[in-house]
Amino acid sequence: MSSPRLRPEIESLPAYKAGQAPVERTDITTYKISSNETPFEPPARVREAIEAAARDVHRYPDPFSRRLVQALAQRFDVEPEQIALGTGSVAVVGQLLWAAAGPGDSVVYPWRSFEAYPIWVQMTGARSIQVPLLDDERHDLAAMADAIDETTRVVFVCNPNNPTGEAVRESELRDFLDRVPSDVIVVLDEAYREFIVDPEVPDGLQMARGRENVVVIRTFSKAYGLAGLRVGFAIASPRIAEAIRKTALPFGVSSIAEAAALAALESEPELFERVQHLSQERDRVWRALAEQGWTIHPSHANFIWLRLDDRAEQFAAACEAAGITIRPFPGEGVRISIGETEANDRVIEVAQAFRREIAS
Ligand SMILES: *Cc1c(COP(=O)(O)O)cnc(C)c1O
Repeated sequence: MSSPRLRPEIESLPAYKAGQAPVERTDITTYKISSNETPFEPPARVREAIEAAARDVHRYPDPFSRRLVQALAQRFDVEPEQIALGTGSVAVVGQLLWAAAGPGDSVVYPWRSFEAYPIWVQMTGARSIQVPLLDDERHDLAAMADAIDETTRVVFVCNPNNPTGEAVRESELRDFLDRVPSDVIVVLDEAYREFIVDPEVPDGLQMARGRENVVVIRTFSKAYGLAGLRVGFAIASPRIAEAIRKTALPFGVSSIAEAAALAALESEPELFERVQHLSQERDRVWRALAEQGWTIHPSHANFIWLRLDDRAEQFAAACEAAGITIRPFPGEGVRISIGETEANDRVIEVAQAFRREIAS
């Protein structure tokens, strides 16, 4: 008897590794700084919108989330036809890949980068072309442009890059976009856009103007604090946006998620104050670690990256012992989200002790 047959590319698919939650402890407060979430609870306006929307959950949501699409079009000064939503931007990335790539095609992206890219590419049956990051953790845009061939359908620029936090600058991105053939889609994944303070890091929306092949991906999960509700979106040319809508899960964005996202947009002043605070905390932790002697590259997101090679898991264990759960990438490094001030303080302490230990 033979077993039911599955697609070989699905059977060999690596499972998505999410950031772990800390184990409850009685001696100290533990902190989850492994998934780049905001440590802040939703503002009152968002909670109230969620509670109000809860009364209508016996009805299907608006399949087109028209109110949210309208609000986003206004907020970002684009046409509603240019917006496509999904259940998190991770889903939007998948929708775009289904729409654009299949067996025989290739997708180019930097590596190490966002874990969802190789998984989604494999699901479409296309081939991944991974271009190593430069030694300073930045995208090697020249090598990425070189890697594009006639099979390439999509190229990802993760800006800032998850997990390394580095970002591409405006002039190099412009040169890159000029080099990419106009029939290849360039995805600017800007999940952490709001945490950028460096004016040399470009706004993808401005870079996309006048370029039909550039798609900007944003999310409500990070700066807007709605990771648990799953809403992300693409801003693209009307034709590409339509393709992303066609491949969406029907009724995927729930009525509660839509209401919360609308309220979050209305709460931007409050949310962006928090973002500013987190960006300052990021720079504080970064400076402290640099002063301790770590080789650490600037981060433009709400996390920092330490390249530790084969000490990554050892560092994560030291953090765990101190009640903070971070995200190790075995053999490479660790990604540490910026969280509560106390959690950030503990990161600095653990890093200090760890340095002394490996120096001795
Ligand atoms: C967190 C993250 C996302 C957002 O994922 P959601 O599905 O919107 O929660 C997208 N891209 C990158 C690079 C990320 O780190």
